[in-house]
Amino acid sequence: MKNNPLQKPKKGLFIGLLVFTCLALALLAILLWWVPYVGLKNIHPYMPHILAGLFASVLILVFLGAFILIFTIIRGRDIFFLKRIRGIVVKVLFPLLIGVGKLFGIPKEELQRSFIDINNQLVLAQAAKTRPNQLLLLMPHCVQNYDCKIKVIANPNNCERCGKCQMKDLLELAENYHVTLSVATGGSLARRIVVRNRPHIIIACACERELSSGIQDAYPIPVFGILNERPNGPCYNTKVNIERIEETMGYFLRV
Ligand code: SF4
Ligand code: SF4
Repeated sequence: MKNNPLQKPKKGLFIGLLVFTCLALALLAILLWWVPYVGLKNIHPYMPHILAGLFASVLILVFLGAFILIFTIIRGRDIFFLKRIRGIVVKVLFPLLIGVGKLFGIPKEELQRSFIDINNQLVLAQAAKTRPNQLLLLMPHCVQNYDCKIKVIANPNNCERCGKCQMKDLLELAENYHVTLSVATGGSLARRIVVRNRPHIIIACACERELSSGIQDAYPIPVFGILNERPNGPCYNTKVNIERIEETMGYFLRV
């Protein structure tokens, strides 16, 4: 049996903030209705009831959306067949919750980690099996040995596989599974690589900031994000979890 590549997801923070935001919205809607309540009666006797109905409908929609999202995340399956739910998370909820998190002093990195895990869960829930030539492995340039003079960004196959960094292992992995391997220096190059390769699914490794912006930029192409390891600090001789990348590939690839 294949391992589930989504290990120990940190989705609680995202869900917690989402529930809080819904409750705050509910309170705001009640206040917006209640404050002009007395004045509205003067316009038309039914006006307060009409406005109450309107706010109640908006709130029901917001809570229903949040409920479906949370249920999908917890169950790990796209039970409601809502293909657009990841789009809402990526384009609307993540930027909104980053703002709400900021108000409470929640570190951006923690929210980004939670967002990456939620996104991964939705990608797993919705992604169909794909052919190797439709899967792109997108790695950050910081995985290359800092002292290596070979240009692997232009072409990873330039690597001489000396074993001083994990480029060797990544190339072997890509060869074994017949998938495309690319190395990017940042967002704009990653975007160009995605446009050139037109993958159906991307497995990307990077730090929190790069992964969360990459997931947003690549939408609607699904990106499964795996955080890199930074034993020497950021951007310098970083590591990727080869085993986890392989497990994830196995999950997405057609056998
Ligand atoms: S494996 Fe060796 S040749 Fe290849 S990128 Fe790393 S250091 Fe350079
Ligand atoms: S640590 Fe992050 S920002 Fe630094 S080079 Fe690697 S992916 Fe880019």
